[in-house]
Amino acid sequence: MADYILSLDEGTTSARAALYDREGRRVAMESNPIECHYPNAGWVEQGALAIWEQQLDAARRTLQKAQVAASNVAAIGITNQRETTVVWDRATGEPIAPAIVWQCRRTASWCQELAARSGALITEKTGLVVDAYFSGSKIRWILDHVPGARERAAAGDLLFGNIDTWLIWKLTGGASHVTDVSNASRTMLMNLASGDWDDELLGMFGIPRGMMPRIARSSEVVGMAGASHLGAEIPIAGIAGDQQAALFGQACFRAGLSKNTYGTGCFALLHTGGRQPVSAHKLLATRAAQLDGGAQFAIEGSVFVAGAAVQWLRDGLGLISTAAESEAVATSVSDSAGVYMVPAFVGLGAPHWDGHARGLISGLTRGATRAHIVRAALESIAYQTRGLVEAMEADSGQELVELRVDGGATANRFLMQFQADVLGKPIVRPADIETTALGAAYLAGLAVGFWSGTEEVEKFWKAERVFEPKMPESEREHLYDGWKDAVRRCRS
Ligand code: ADP
Repeated sequence: MADYILSLDEGTTSARAALYDREGRRVAMESNPIECHYPNAGWVEQGALAIWEQQLDAARRTLQKAQVAASNVAAIGITNQRETTVVWDRATGEPIAPAIVWQCRRTASWCQELAARSGALITEKTGLVVDAYFSGSKIRWILDHVPGARERAAAGDLLFGNIDTWLIWKLTGGASHVTDVSNASRTMLMNLASGDWDDELLGMFGIPRGMMPRIARSSEVVGMAGASHLGAEIPIAGIAGDQQAALFGQACFRAGLSKNTYGTGCFALLHTGGRQPVSAHKLLATRAAQLDGGAQFAIEGSVFVAGAAVQWLRDGLGLISTAAESEAVATSVSDSAGVYMVPAFVGLGAPHWDGHARGLISGLTRGATRAHIVRAALESIAYQTRGLVEAMEADSGQELVELRVDGGATANRFLMQFQADVLGKPIVRPADIETTALGAAYLAGLAVGFWSGTEEVEKFWKAERVFEPKMPESEREHLYDGWKDAVRRCRS
């Protein structure tokens, strides 16, 4: 049997490929940037063909770097930026429009009208809050705006896919038109309970069922990547959306385990096992990666501005010259001296969902310095995460024992310690923080018997550092009360 698993990790800003050995160790990783285009205010697009070319190139270079032949790769796993929408011609393989990226707001007003009409029904069916973020309204937009598209779709000539589906279709030369439950649960067109496309939803969005890919499990062979691409035929055996792949890569396979990713924003997911969650706190219910017949669920909450607040300190205020410098500046003072920053630059996400809230810095006195403001910005990331975690615990009726973390800002030790303190829970940083690519590799490897089961894979996961809470409870609650007060002040 072959000795490696290849993971393709197609993110918003880069297409990466990584190669893993039998012990789950990453032996090579290569990446190519992906360009975004902003043709109108609030619009975000990418070239679907460019994504494919950059992803394939990253995969080829990864194999070259590791000096591993494609014939020695047991399977390919794919993880992707979720919700980003591609529509292409079944016969020619040509996209009929640029890919509409998840961040794109062009369908926001249509979604507002839809929410007013049918918001409760859609949330009940999909677990999602009606928003332009998800794929459904993006597909509709393409059908409405590309001349002739609606007729071609009705005739069965057009196909829809998120980036996973698009890459698999290209890799298999058009033989497989498939996605997995975790990606499908972000389209707003899948019935969360049944795991199938929902005809009533397809009708509401005006999308013919014939455009939609087959929904597979996250870990099964869905097709063969053609030999012309990487040098040998390789089974494609794992698919998951990026956040669900990261949950899997953090070895969160069971109810009660959770991870938080600290990047531009934060994405927290709590596994709820086979139980479909219903959120009373405006979090999203979604599908977790699924290995076998049994549906798996998660609750998801996101913070829009996390690491981006640090970028603002650097680029907007010029208070620091690099993101990493924030740590030394923050720890040059012993506390934030009552200064709070609420980085509600684009409103507040879960659990507030206040699109009109705007950011503030509060508690300023004559003694406040740049260090207090920098510290307050880092602390805001931890406070926002506590808000998500509390909402998740309330929704699931489960108490988190620890929070596993990944993402660029987890390099900041002050932030990690403060997070442990303000949550009163251990924060666990794993040895391999490329958890997204790793999760897709696990899913593929498990499907082809490269690894025997989740028990084997679980042993690969190692904590690099655990941040234990040290702050007395009275202080933790006092600080958090101050944060809640600052949030109240910035609400619209
Ligand atoms: P994304 O995948 O969203 O692009 P990354 O996981 O690459 O994000 O993380 C980058 C983000 O983390 C940036 O917003 C940056 O400001 C922040 N960041 C990176 N290093 C640090 C650090 N040492 N301290 C605080 N924030 C950091």
